[in-house]
Amino acid sequence: MHSCPYCGKDCINEEAVNMYLRMVKKFFKYQNKDSEITFERYPTVGEVGECKETGGRIYLCPYCEKPFKAYYKNEEVVINCPHCGKILALPATNRTFC
Ligand SMILES: [Zn+2]
Ligand SMILES: [Zn+2]
Repeated sequence: MHSCPYCGKDCINEEAVNMYLRMVKKFFKYQNKDSEITFERYPTVGEVGECKETGGRIYLCPYCEKPFKAYYKNEEVVINCPHCGKILALPATNRTFC
């Protein structure tokens, strides 16, 4: 069980967590660390639910498998996991295009 990074309760969709971790395994198998393309180079962060109390979106890091509060930096397509500091690509829905 993972606890919500906002309220500490069970807001995280465990089904989504399992699905995401299965998918990301495949990514690591074919990961191209020298690629110019962000999405071949870094794993996309997992979207594993919304906090029922605050409505905040919950992300999951594929490296440390810990949930954290969704955030993004302006005009950046990557963020760092607040737990382990690894670079993660943002899901397409949050990307800002110039
Ligand atoms: Zn919550
Ligand atoms: Zn992490």
